[in-house]
This record gives sequence, C-alpha cells and structure tokens, in this order.
Amino acid sequence: MVRSLPLRTAPVRGEALDSWLEALAAQLRTPMGDLLVELGLLRQYRPPEQAPFTRSPWLTLLAPQEAEHLGAATGLAPVDLRAMTLEHFDQRALSIDRGRRMLHRTRNWRRSAGTGSRFCPDCLAESGGRWQLSWRFGWSFACLPHRRLLADLCPGCGSLQRRRRHADRVIPVPGLCDRPGPKPDGGPSPRCRYPLRTAHTLLLDPDHPALRAQQDLVDAVATGIGSFGVYRHRPQPALDVLADVKGLGRRALFIMSGDRLAELVPADLLNARQETSAGESASGRLVPVTAAGTAALITAA
Ligand SMILES: [Zn+2]
Ligand SMILES: [Zn+2]
Repeated sequence: MVRSLPLRTAPVRGEALDSWLEALAAQLRTPMGDLLVELGLLRQYRPPEQAPFTRSPWLTLLAPQEAEHLGAATGLAPVDLRAMTLEHFDQRALSIDRGRRMLHRTRNWRRSAGTGSRFCPDCLAESGGRWQLSWRFGWSFACLPHRRLLADLCPGCGSLQRRRRHADRVIPVPGLCDRPGPKPDGGPSPRCRYPLRTAHTLLLDPDHPALRAQQDLVDAVATGIGSFGVYRHRPQPALDVLADVKGLGRRALFIMSGDRLAELVPADLLNARQETSAGESASGRLVPVTAAGTAALITAA
C-alpha cells in the first residue's frame, strides 16, 4: 500500500520531474534520498564506501510500476508524470535508448546525452527555482519569453547543473546551486548554494535571428514536423530537421571565414561565443557545448 504524501505542490508548466520532486522534498523538509525511497524511485542509500549512484533513469523514462507508485503517492495521473520525463520528447526532440533508460550517445546533440541542464535565471526567479525539462535539450539555447541566452554553469562554483542527481542526504533548496562547495578538512562537503537566478547571460533584441531560429526548432519539436524555411514545401520529421541543422551549422561555424560567418550571425552572439567557448575543438568534430556556441551554430544554419 503506497502512502500518499501529506503536502502537495503542483508541477509548473513544462517542469522536469527531478525539479518537481525536489520542490516536494523542500516543502516536506525531507532529504532528497528519503523522498525518492518513499516514492519507489530509489531502493536504498548506498553505503558510504560505495561510489554513489548518481543517475536518475526515471527522469529519462518512468517504468510502469514507478509511474503507478508515484501517481498513487502524489495524486498525479501517470500520463502527466510521463510528460515531465524525456520520454515525452522521444523521436521529436531527442532519441532514447529505452532498454537502458538513457539517451542515445550518438543520436543526440552532445549536451542532451547526460550532460545536465542549462537554465534561465529569470525563469528560476519567477518560479521560485523550478527547472524546465526543455533546458536539457542540447539544441535549447535561449529562453523565448525572457529573450536571453540560457546559462551554462553556476557562476559561483563553475559546475554544470543537474548532471548528477541531487545529493541523497541533503534537503533541497530550489533555485540554489546544489553542487558540493569547497571541502573543509574531514567534514562533509557543504553545498555551493549560489543563487542561480542572479547569473548573467546575453539579452537578445526582440527580432534577433537567434530567437527566430530557436522558435522554429521549438515549433518543429512541438508538432514533430519541421515546416520552416527550406522545409516549407517538403516538411520533414523534427529529428531529421535537428540533424540537418546541426550538420549545416557545424560546417558554417568551423569552415567559413570570419567575414562570411559575420554575415550570418550577429556580432553580439559571436562575441558571447568567443567568451564562453574557449575549450571547444576547432577541428569541427565537436558540437559546441555552450549556449552561445549552440546559438551561433543554429543561427548560422
Ligand atoms: Zn526564462
Ligand atoms: Zn555552484
């Protein structure tokens, strides 16, 4: 018999399952691992001598019994719970290896495949620290309502966000960085706790080509079909469109001369890319991992 939770907080529109569960744990003042065990998503804590299990396969794909257990405990319908997992976007925005409950490493934008989540500081400020599932997509680089690039890292500790599961023994504080901070001698390492809503990212003009490009991709994924630009007369599946855009943009970014690229991509974006993409490969094999680099690539395409 599954116990239903005494307090409930509703998911926000587009929220990722991990974000909502953290909001629940915060409301219940419960360590994250306790809640996950209670909800049937985690069997037990690992003993300290074992390497921690840091994946959350349920964020990619909820098993039927997990969806049922979670639904009984929270009062949400399994179909609504699944809409907060990446499975909801399988074959539209990304491609899932269902057997392993992971994203395909090779068939996705690199950022999608287990490398965490970008974030919009304004959205975090307005929602009280709730995370959108779409920020995990590798091709997602801007917030359309707030017209700004997404942030890649915590400005406090420089960590990628949400690459690993929230620490089991810690009560979440939505909106603050949950990565380990500097470790004092002997003690457990405290959390970074940087307020992510204060991160700075590039603001974009209302008619900025990068926003139009992001909107086209969002629309293609919403319908599953790309019908913008060259696809107007021959609409194509969204996943094929995303692959085309990646290939084309990558060639533009790594092969074109600076002058030619500057005709396609506005200067503010090229500058932001320069500042954030120092570590990117110039060989053309790698897809940019920063929001600014991704924005430049997609806009060029
Ligand atoms: Zn936003
Ligand atoms: Zn941090």
